[in-house]
Amino acid sequence: RALLARIEATEPQVGAFITVTAAEGLAAAEAADRRIAAGEIDLLTGIPVALKDIFVTAGVRTTCGSRILENFVPPYDGTVVARLKAQGAVLLGKLNQDEFAMGSSTESSAFGVTRNPWDPERTPGGSSGGSAACIAARQATATLGTDTGGSIRQPASHCGCVGLKPTYGRVSRYGVIAYASSLDQVGPLTRDVTDAAIMLGAVAGYDPLDSTSVERPVPDYRAALTGKATGLKIGLPREYYREGLDPEVKQALEAAIETFRGLGAEFVEVSLPHTDYAVATYYLIATAEASSNLARYDGVRFGHRTATAEGLLDMFRKSRAEGFGAEVKRRIMLGTYALSSGYYDAYYLKAQKVRTLIMQDFSRAFESVDLLLTPVAPTPAFKIGEKVDDPLQMYLSDIFTIPVNLAGTCGISVPAGFSAAGLPIGLQLVGRPFGEETILRAAHAFE
Ligand code: GLN
Repeated sequence: RALLARIEATEPQVGAFITVTAAEGLAAAEAADRRIAAGEIDLLTGIPVALKDIFVTAGVRTTCGSRILENFVPPYDGTVVARLKAQGAVLLGKLNQDEFAMGSSTESSAFGVTRNPWDPERTPGGSSGGSAACIAARQATATLGTDTGGSIRQPASHCGCVGLKPTYGRVSRYGVIAYASSLDQVGPLTRDVTDAAIMLGAVAGYDPLDSTSVERPVPDYRAALTGKATGLKIGLPREYYREGLDPEVKQALEAAIETFRGLGAEFVEVSLPHTDYAVATYYLIATAEASSNLARYDGVRFGHRTATAEGLLDMFRKSRAEGFGAEVKRRIMLGTYALSSGYYDAYYLKAQKVRTLIMQDFSRAFESVDLLLTPVAPTPAFKIGEKVDDPLQMYLSDIFTIPVNLAGTCGISVPAGFSAAGLPIGLQLVGRPFGEETILRAAHAFE
């Protein structure tokens, strides 16, 4: 009840939610009360959560931030939703996001912008901007987001919360609306590292319904939080500390490095030589996969169908023209182009090769260090409207998070301080594949 009141009071300023499920939330909370009274307490019994609107939820409208799914009410829960519910979590609603998770500012949503709770003139980041703003505004205890190129870590950084992108395959994608399937991962956005460890443990693990989920035991992530960073060898990738990094971000990272030294960690410089190609590689692979994934929105199987079609092709064309926003259309065009015969080898295939080189950069670095410490974003949260007309500027702001998705490994964003204007600044810790315990332990010792 306190959180529902908080949501009502803060939503006019923040706009984190697309749908608030107040009645269902109250009913679930009362059921949790009865279970607690009976002594039947699971990991998340009665814990109020909210989810990015990319997760399909049985009986609760799921829009993915798009007009084309404005009235889509899924008939089933995705795996992570079912796991949260089975462990007693209470769902308070669905959170705003960039349309189909394409963006870095939550401005491409068809349902309005979300404002950064630290400064209403600024974006909360994206695409999981609703999730990060919800946590920063204290509207729910924990949230989940998805991260294809930084969409959990960057908004966490801009909103002063913790965001973790697990290793590809660690968390099931079944019932998560697909953007770029070889990059998408589900992860927690929370107030602190302990909550992130709890949420990751609650949703991680093999799922026969996702063919890319990995059959590998889920460690007790909370047990990894020893408060110690002694003996950790941390790499500083040379290519990430160059020009273009905001002086205040740089300063926050330098202070963090000193803190880690004080905790007994050791630093070495490493090189990720293909960093310069990461953004271009990502925007070929992600858009190619997106153009294929989004072919399913045809006015027949899902979502919006135009009212004015003359014939089948016209129906496809008009339904998609009316349902998709500008950024999604731009990506479909880019992806279709990269996949078309004649360009496939030059763009898509080349990008796949460069992706392998980027992956090898990380493997090589992890031969000599346990984790990497990097910026999350080049600057603190930018102003609403500042980059909407300049997609390339928007794309470049993901330079430090995208390589981690291309490599398929894990990363966490943890608050590292504030700019002079009072905006949160995060730092990123990148781990080996399935090295979530190590980055959680380091982040926890630091926070
Ligand atoms: N900003 C990046 C993009 O627009 C990443 C988004 C994401 O991680 N979903 O593709």
